[in-house]
Amino acid sequence: MSHYIRGLVVRSAGVPAELVELRLPEIGPGQVRVKVRAAGVCHSDLSMINGTLRPPHPLVLGHEAAGEVVEVGEHVTRTRVGDHVVLNWQPACRTCWFCEHGQPWLCSTSSGVAALENGLTLDGAPVHVTLGLGAFAEQVVAPENAVIPVPKELNFEVAALLGCSVLTGSGAVRNTAQVQPGESVLVIGLGGVGLSAVAAARAAGAGKVIAVDVTEAKKGLAEAAGATDFVVSSDSLSKEIRNLTGKLGADHAIECVGRASTIRAAWRATRRGGQVTVVGMGAADDMVQLGALDIFSSARTLKASVYGQADTDIEVPALARDVLDGKLDLDHLITDRITLAEVPAAFDRMSRGEGARSVALL
Ligand SMILES: [Zn+2]
Ligand SMILES: [Zn+2]
Repeated sequence: MSHYIRGLVVRSAGVPAELVELRLPEIGPGQVRVKVRAAGVCHSDLSMINGTLRPPHPLVLGHEAAGEVVEVGEHVTRTRVGDHVVLNWQPACRTCWFCEHGQPWLCSTSSGVAALENGLTLDGAPVHVTLGLGAFAEQVVAPENAVIPVPKELNFEVAALLGCSVLTGSGAVRNTAQVQPGESVLVIGLGGVGLSAVAAARAAGAGKVIAVDVTEAKKGLAEAAGATDFVVSSDSLSKEIRNLTGKLGADHAIECVGRASTIRAAWRATRRGGQVTVVGMGAADDMVQLGALDIFSSARTLKASVYGQADTDIEVPALARDVLDGKLDLDHLITDRITLAEVPAAFDRMSRGEGARSVALL
């Protein structure tokens, strides 16, 4: 039996996204069908439509989501109908070189796939789904390893955030930067990922957590997340950070924007021997220029953190437990609760740097 659903589709580059009727594929062995209950508006989706990334079209947007399993295919073992699940846009195959060497976040079966076809159709023609999910839709068909069961007490809007922004931001701090108690941490870019990084840095015992954004508007959100200092980004950022860190520069910078200019700013604001962790997903042609002598003499480390450098199957349930135990408060991250039809307006707010997370509730 075919299922028809509504999903938010970009028909071609530069054309606004619209809600259209889509036909779901029948699920095959090892696949599951999930009724989406909450889907967050993530910056990577904005990058799919604003020219930063160049995905194929037509494309269903959305990849940060949670929902309820409504059908399972043959041989599915990790979930059953009725389970509440977080969707995982980087499911690990557990058999490739990276998975077998403890780096499932770099799994070669899915890494770098901005969009693929999964049998979904629009007027009989194939449609691509963002990061293998296409979660701005009433339902999603995905392989079973792309769902992570979570306790039913966890509300769907918070569960959705665990699938991308929270895992990415907190993982960058805990797994990639490995922030230690007393260290100073600079976080540049205060969207859902950046604010999660601020909260994780504070939770890790950082002495100073300096939050940076382009406008004063994010100050309240930054402080609610645990920032000790807030700085509006400017050409004198590195000087201001030095003044806040005993003239040294920060031990860590977490770059959550994905632009050469902010990666450079993060580099210059860290101390000698400090570490820059790039979390933002930037454009292929945005080149970061660093001096060869500077790389040597500053002795800094530049790292990237993909999907929180986390084993999602372990860390998403752990984050869910932290939320239920009251150790992790994510309510302040959600500033707008919207419908699927209101997602394009949420992209506009995100482009203007307003608010934290918008979450579509279905
Ligand atoms: Zn995301
Ligand atoms: Zn793998």
